[in-house]
Amino acid sequence: MQGEFNFHFSFGDSGQGPIGMCARVWAKSKAEALKKLQEALPEKIEVKGFVDSTSIEYVNVYLGVENITVADIDEVEDADGNNVDYVTTCPHCGAPDALVVVEANGVAMHSRLEVDGFEVPDEAANDAANSDYSTEDEKVECEECGEAVDFATVLV
Ligand SMILES: [Zn+2]
Repeated sequence: MQGEFNFHFSFGDSGQGPIGMCARVWAKSKAEALKKLQEALPEKIEVKGFVDSTSIEYVNVYLGVENITVADIDEVEDADGNNVDYVTTCPHCGAPDALVVVEANGVAMHSRLEVDGFEVPDEAANDAANSDYSTEDEKVECEECGEAVDFATVLV
């Protein structure tokens, strides 16, 4: 499980709806978890074992496997069960916990990237409320090797 995370998928509504489904998948990224799940699932599950098997002719559950997306992932955990949103290991030099967010929404900052997020200064946060703020606007650097890190690569 080295470098892998535990991705929890949730479909439908297993609490209030007529049907729901959950899955946990170990993978290195959301994209990899999605691929693993899609390859593992059948398109149809035949429900069996009814007590009254003369009246119930059949019950089938159909899975729209190709319609599952990374948006169906509602939780990511590491091996210790901690919530994870970001990778904090430098992709260039491999230094652990060395990544720092140096700009967000055009505002210079210096905030250590933790697995569950980072602190955004008020100035950047206030601007964010009035703009098309997205994580693509954030700039990340490694404190060890000084290399700029593509934000997309630190998103789990
Ligand atoms: Zn580095």
